[in-house]
Amino acid sequence: MTPLIELAPPVVEEIVHRASRPDFDRWFEQVQHCGHCSRPVRLRGRVVHQSATGRELAYSTDDEPDRVLMIRCGNRRAAVCPSCSWEYAGDMWQLLYAGAAGGRKGVPDSIRAHPLVFATLTAPGFGAVHTARTDRQGKHARCRPARAKPTLCRHGQPTWCTAIHGEDDPRLGQPLCPDCYDYPAHAAFNWHAPELWRRFTITLRRVLARRAGLTAKDFTGRCRLSFVKVAEFQRRAVVHFHALIRLDGPGTDFGPPQVHLDATDLADAIREAASVVRLTVDMPDGTGLELRFGEQTDTQPINGGPTGELTPERAAAYIAKYATKSADDFGLGDRRITLESLPLLDVSDHVTRLVQTCWQLGEHDTYNGLRRWLHMLGFRGHFASKSRRYSTTLGAIRGERRAYRQRQAAEHVRELLDDDTTLVVSHWEFTGVGYLTTGDTALALSAAARTRERRQAARDAA
Ligand SMILES: [Zn+2]
Ligand SMILES: [Zn+2]
Ligand SMILES: [Zn+2]
Repeated sequence: MTPLIELAPPVVEEIVHRASRPDFDRWFEQVQHCGHCSRPVRLRGRVVHQSATGRELAYSTDDEPDRVLMIRCGNRRAAVCPSCSWEYAGDMWQLLYAGAAGGRKGVPDSIRAHPLVFATLTAPGFGAVHTARTDRQGKHARCRPARAKPTLCRHGQPTWCTAIHGEDDPRLGQPLCPDCYDYPAHAAFNWHAPELWRRFTITLRRVLARRAGLTAKDFTGRCRLSFVKVAEFQRRAVVHFHALIRLDGPGTDFGPPQVHLDATDLADAIREAASVVRLTVDMPDGTGLELRFGEQTDTQPINGGPTGELTPERAAAYIAKYATKSADDFGLGDRRITLESLPLLDVSDHVTRLVQTCWQLGEHDTYNGLRRWLHMLGFRGHFASKSRRYSTTLGAIRGERRAYRQRQAAEHVRELLDDDTTLVVSHWEFTGVGYLTTGDTALALSAAARTRERRQAARDAA
C-alpha cells in the first residue's frame, strides 16, 4: 500500500486543478513517458518537416499542457532521481557488458577471449577511521582492538575502538582523532586522483611491455590497453576506482592482442603498476607530497585466469551499480557549495572538515579551481570514463546533457507523430527543471509508487 501522505490544502488545490484540466490525460502521458522522473527537464520547441516542396510545422509544444514537453532528467545519482539513475545504470551495464562479453553494440563475440581484469584501486590511509571489519570466519569483528598497552594520541584521544559497528553506524569512515587525521593529503588525493590514474595507465603499459619482453614501442605496435573506469567514494569520503581493463590488438577492430599475456599476467601487472606509481604534488606550505594508491589493489581475472569465477555479466553489474552512487551520499547535494552554505547542510564533522580543507587549499595557485568542486569533495574527474576503444560511446550516457535532451525530445516527438521517414529540423529550448507545482510533483511521485507496487506484485506472483 502507498502510505497516505498528509497534503497541505494549497497542494490539494493544485492537484485538483491539474486533474480537472481538459489536457490532464496528455499531461499524465508525459509524466509516464519520462518514467516518473523526479525532476524532469521542461523544454519548449517545435519540429519542422523538410520536404522537396518546403517546410511545414509538424509539432509544437504550444499545443502541449503548460506549453512544454517534459524529458527525463537523466541524472545518474540515485539520491537525485531514483527512476533515472536506474535507467542510467541499465545503459551503463549495456556498455560495460558489450566490452566484457562482446556480441553487441559493435563489439565482436571474439572479445571474450581477450585478457580482461576487474580491478579496484583504493586510496592510501590518511589516519585511522572507524571501520566495519569481518574476521576470517566472516563474522563481524571489533573496529580497532586495543594493543597490550593502549596509548592515547597526543590530542588525548584513544587510538583504539572496541565497538562492533553496524552497517549504518554514522561513525563509520569518521577518524578516531580528527586532529591526527591528514585532511590536506586526503583533499589533495581527491583533487589529483584523475592524474594519478593517468600515470597508472602509462606505468601499466610499461610493466606489461617488460613482462612480454618487449620495448615500449614494440608493445604499442602489438597491443592496446582498453579500459572503462568508475570512481566511487569510500565511506571515509576518499575517491577510489573500479575498472575493467582489457588487452586488445593494435588496430581499431577489436582484434586479439599480439602478445603472450593472459588475464593472470594482466592482473599481476595491474597490481605491480598500482604499487609503484607515484605523483608528487605541491602543497601550500611549499613542501612536496607524494601521492600513491593504497596497498590493497584487488584484481579479478574474468574468463580465463585460474580464479576467473567472475563472469562479464557480474563485473558489468558491479561497476554499473557504483556509477549511480556519488558524493550525494554525504549530504552535499549535486550543486556547487560555498563555505557559507556548508552549515546549512546536514553533513558529518568529517565531511565538514574535509570541505573546509578543500576551501583552504583552493586559495593556492596549484589548487586553482578546487573551490568549484567542494560538493564533490575535491574530485573533479568524470564519474565514468573509458579509453577510446573499450566499446561504443559512453559520452551519451555520461552527460552530454544538451545532446541527450535534444535526442530524447526528438525521439518523443517521432513516436508521437508515428513518423520517422521525413527529414526534420527541430529546435528546442530549455525552460526549467522539475514539475511546475508541488501538487504536480505529488501526483507524479504517487504514480511512480503505484507503478513500483504493481511491478513488485507481478514479481511476487511469478
Ligand atoms: Zn529523472
Ligand atoms: Zn570504531
Ligand atoms: Zn590525535
